Amino acid sequence: MKSRLRGHHLICLNFFRGEGYSEDFIKNIYAVLKKEKVEIVSGPDEVCAKCPYLNDKKCASNEYSDEMILVQDKEALRLLGFMAGKIVDWKMIAVILPDILEEWKVQFCAGCGYRKVCFNE
Ligand code: SF4
Repeated sequence: MKSRLRGHHLICLNFFRGEGYSEDFIKNIYAVLKKEKVEIVSGPDEVCAKCPYLNDKKCASNEYSDEMILVQDKEALRLLGFMAGKIVDWKMIAVILPDILEEWKVQFCAGCGYRKVCFNE
């Protein structure tokens, strides 16, 4: 089975600890993570589909603008060396992640509300 995920979720979901915006949102992420393969998509994905912040196909989070999220997606794909449309799996991502995580953290984690959950810092 294959999930459909946007760029930044390929990085951030590696640090999912069962926390999220709603019960439905959390349940959905567990289901997404059970799928072995991932098709990379642009814009809202299978995680966003159950997010209370998705509004008119845009991210209306109170922490980020849709533009910021799109920048995160683009940068995640650049760091991972992937592009939209590619089929990947979590093992491939796990191999690359240690080499790119510090750069990712510097760019995007400092102001993120989930920093404590992901890295306990
Ligand atoms: S906060 Fe935005 S990017 Fe994150 S899951 Fe919700 S809609 Fe998607």
